[in-house]
Amino acid sequence: MNILFQTVLKPLPINSYSIRLLLPARPLRRFCTRRLETTEDVRVRFAPSPTGFMHLGGLRTALFNYLFAKSHEGKLILRIEDTDQERLVEGAMERIYEDLKWAGVEPDESPWKEGPYGPYIQSKRYDIYKQEVKKLMEDGKAYYCFCTERRLDLLRKEAVRLRQIPKYDNKCRHLTPGQIAERLARNDKFCIRFKLDSKADEFQDLIYGKIVYFVAQNEGDPVIIKSDGFPTYHFANVVDDHYMKVSHVLRGVEWQISTPKHIQMFRAFGWRPPQYAHLPLVMNANGSKLSKRQGDVQLDYYRKMGIFPQALLNFITQSGGGFDRGLIDIVGPQMEDLIRHFDIGKINAHSSRLNADLLKQCNREEIEHQLKNCPEKAEALVQEVIRMVRHEFGDQLKNLDLDEKHVRDVLEWSTKRIDVLQDLVKGKLSFLWVLPHGTKDKTISKDILLDFANSLTSEWDNSFTKAQLSKFLKAFAQRNNIAFDLFMKSIRSSLSGLSEGPGVAEMMEILGRDKTIERIQLAAKRK
Ligand code: GLU
Repeated sequence: MNILFQTVLKPLPINSYSIRLLLPARPLRRFCTRRLETTEDVRVRFAPSPTGFMHLGGLRTALFNYLFAKSHEGKLILRIEDTDQERLVEGAMERIYEDLKWAGVEPDESPWKEGPYGPYIQSKRYDIYKQEVKKLMEDGKAYYCFCTERRLDLLRKEAVRLRQIPKYDNKCRHLTPGQIAERLARNDKFCIRFKLDSKADEFQDLIYGKIVYFVAQNEGDPVIIKSDGFPTYHFANVVDDHYMKVSHVLRGVEWQISTPKHIQMFRAFGWRPPQYAHLPLVMNANGSKLSKRQGDVQLDYYRKMGIFPQALLNFITQSGGGFDRGLIDIVGPQMEDLIRHFDIGKINAHSSRLNADLLKQCNREEIEHQLKNCPEKAEALVQEVIRMVRHEFGDQLKNLDLDEKHVRDVLEWSTKRIDVLQDLVKGKLSFLWVLPHGTKDKTISKDILLDFANSLTSEWDNSFTKAQLSKFLKAFAQRNNIAFDLFMKSIRSSLSGLSEGPGVAEMMEILGRDKTIERIQLAAKRK
């Protein structure tokens, strides 16, 4: 290895893993072209543990797997990793699937869409793991360990006292067949451990470049079957990646130090390991960690807030790289754009920070995209606004101004101004939907109101703009000898029934010419 590229990380505190990762200062990109040269079918997997709900980091991992698969005519598998039965959260598995569906990141094979290599839930694959561990035992690559929790605990404490890395001392590797038979006959509790090889392991990470990690120096032989008979994540993960014919593993960087161990297991079986790409952490804009417990990183939070799925996907792809330059020119990219421009070689090897402000912009762009380019979605937006208005102002049902053209005009006006559809039914904009109940205002007469409506009809087309309307309002007040502020008060009341609110010219712009005229005529009729 070129010594210039070596970055030896500072040793970590002794009670955590000590890692010596030898990273290139900048990953070598020779192998990273937009389409990787592969001779095999691309099969990737998203493998969440149902110990919580989906959050932004998980969504990014799922999305990048999906984009990688789709840009290589490959398949995405959803595999549920539920070997840690104690940490299961009820309903989490279903929710993860629903969230993926909502986001449009649909797997090709999953517990809900069986494929050739199922089942896709690890707890349904115990027979497979049992069979596979037997092979390792027969080949002398795994062994029974009878060490008690008490002994392991003492080992840990002793290591801490001596300021060493706490690790299992591999004692049971050396038991004789006679000792093993005796302990088994005594029904002693046991687990099964994998024999780590002591030489340095290295692999080529598609994002980080060459990684060298001395796994056996940093940990004892790992448990692969727990004393309750269930496999550990590390073992199940390797067996499944092999039998599900996974060609590339794209997962969070927190798993990078486990990869050499996984590769050793592949080799012990005589299997070819997949290629690995570890995705850097996703962080908040201030560099703090996103946590599963923070409500605002869960997908449901964004859904309830009115963020569209595509907007959320666009938001999480705004930082951290992963796309060629072509994507920058697209306003409101859609999934097919993300697929077309995805480039695994362009994913940054440092953590990505999410700038929360971009989320609103992405949502606005998505609303605009739907209105302009997708008649069906535009229609759905109109219906959604009608539903929201009815829900919000239900007590004034008879008095609502909800014809579809009006709703659509408002939506078009709003694309640059609102973040989420809900903004349209908030207090300040209620006048858009709720018709005024006649006006008690006596400042101007019915005739002047009608005259005002007539001049709007004759002098204006649909290009109602605030700046020009302001001039027009002033001129009209002058011509009719009415004090300007009183005139404004009167028109505001005719348009909205409100004594305060947005400026009159602005209100007129939002309502548009036809609605303005209609409301003025209505006010005149009620005088
Ligand atoms: N079950 C692991 C997790 O939830 C997946 C790790 C992997 O992709 O290998 O993070």
